[in-house]
Amino acid sequence: MNTLVEPIKISDSEWEVMRVIWTKGSADAKTINDLLSSSKGWKLATTKTLLGRLVKKDILQTEQLGKKFVYTAKVTEEETVRSATENIFSHICAKKVGSTIADMISEAELTQEDIDNIQDILSEKMAVADIACNCIPGQCICKE
Ligand SMILES: [Zn+2]
Repeated sequence: MNTLVEPIKISDSEWEVMRVIWTKGSADAKTINDLLSSSKGWKLATTKTLLGRLVKKDILQTEQLGKKFVYTAKVTEEETVRSATENIFSHICAKKVGSTIADMISEAELTQEDIDNIQDILSEKMAVADIACNCIPGQCICKE
């Protein structure tokens, strides 16, 4: 995995476009729009705007093939999901990460395979004695 210094920040709409490109490997604007237009109500221009933003953010690269511009992802779905999760965790006190993960597991629909996988990870996880609060005073009650 690449070590990403900057978090990958994409909007919900951009995320919809990226999921098509990750699934197909590469795609042109019309192919993406044909797949998303009925459920999203997007016009081709909307899809092209989103693609342009993703190129500008260096998340997509584009290549001209004949008359078409074909878009390919420069980051993987896994990297993007990981970056988004890390970004969410960066907004909470480091001491609350564990209970937040516990809440997420509690709320998620999981198969037996998922549960087995999580239990395997937990059984090998090394605990730390204490977690330092990383908050600005006033953002949490750890130091009160
Ligand atoms: Zn804190």
